[in-house]
Amino acid sequence: MENQDNMREKDREKEEIQANPSPNGNLATPATESQTTPRSSQNQQQGRQKQEERGRERHNRYRRPRPQGVDTERQHDLAKELSIVIPLFNEEQSLRELYDKIRNALSRNQRFEIIFVDDGSTDNSMRILHDLRHRDRRIKIIRFRRNYGKSAALSVGFNNAKGDIIITMDADLQDDPNEIPNLVNEIKKGFDLVSGWKKKRRDPITKTIPSKFFNFIVSKMTGIKLHDFNCGLKAYRKEVVKEIEIYGELHRYIPVLAHWRGFKIGEIVVQHYARKFGKTKYGLGRFWKGFLDLVTTLFTTRYLQRPLHFFGLWGLFFFLIGFGIDAYLVVLKFVEGIALSNRPLFLGGILLTIVGVQIISIGLLGEMIAKTRHVNDKEYSVKEFWK
Ligand code: UDP
Ligand code: MG
Repeated sequence: MENQDNMREKDREKEEIQANPSPNGNLATPATESQTTPRSSQNQQQGRQKQEERGRERHNRYRRPRPQGVDTERQHDLAKELSIVIPLFNEEQSLRELYDKIRNALSRNQRFEIIFVDDGSTDNSMRILHDLRHRDRRIKIIRFRRNYGKSAALSVGFNNAKGDIIITMDADLQDDPNEIPNLVNEIKKGFDLVSGWKKKRRDPITKTIPSKFFNFIVSKMTGIKLHDFNCGLKAYRKEVVKEIEIYGELHRYIPVLAHWRGFKIGEIVVQHYARKFGKTKYGLGRFWKGFLDLVTTLFTTRYLQRPLHFFGLWGLFFFLIGFGIDAYLVVLKFVEGIALSNRPLFLGGILLTIVGVQIISIGLLGEMIAKTRHVNDKEYSVKEFWK
């Protein structure tokens, strides 16, 4: 494929040179000039013309061939370098087709790299990736020592991406590489992150209905108007991926994390296909894990630097209710002589007071951790990296 492209490029260069013949061919000075100017200045002029012609020829010769029938403005923007990050776990049957589709989707003069992150596959995925890399050095392969999950795979891909725009997509052919130019175009409009929306989703109903519910809740809780938070197909400006930290299974909340840091989020409808080979790597467990991760995301985005604002509020709430109840009962005892020993409410008040103090203490501990926090541990371990 690559060789064929090179050959075609060379042929085109040859054609261009033939279309612009050597400078000597069209150096004829107008007769009138040669008759009127003295001989020395005529020579100078000829020399200058010769030089100009040579320069023009050199320019034509090394000019990059222009793609035919492609909107040049769009082309200009796409000429920025793209990094395509693809996490994969046991996807041997899809990889070759995926690579071909990506190549076909990108224009010929598009600069790009494809970073395949093998998340501990146990099938032939690595062998196929090496075959592909042998053909095309723009392919990079990062291999994890074991299966760490999609978030870790995306994270290492992000850290090593060199492009100005980073595209992520799944390796299972469910995402369509032809959407890449559309995503890039949307980024060009001024968005920092553009997420795909699988409006017509080709997945079993056991996945689509809970997913709709999940997206609705996340959208309501975070105030971000997206329909499909967890779409694998997304485009990012490089600033976004260098700034957000994803771990565990937080890849579902990348738009939330980015939005919280002030990045502008967009969305476009994208094609989605049914899984052709292999099976999904996530069972129903994704939903309850997803909701717990939502709590983590909401908490860490808002309160990571000020945990006492969260714990302190709830702690004070419980403490004051407990204290109020007990104070009221004590007053009753002194005024009306009602004994405290047989009043369960008194015990409830004590319980609430203690719980309140405990929650405030947790907040204070959180503050101490926040002050000394040192995030430098990577969650994953890379076994091989083919740059
Ligand atoms: N994946 C991964 N590590 C994992 C699970 C999945 O890299 O532990 C990859 C997988 O190979 C695919 C993408 O993440 O490229 C999405 O996974 P899958 O298709 O199973 O998810 P679904 O489409 O069912 O949401
Ligand atoms: Mg899939």
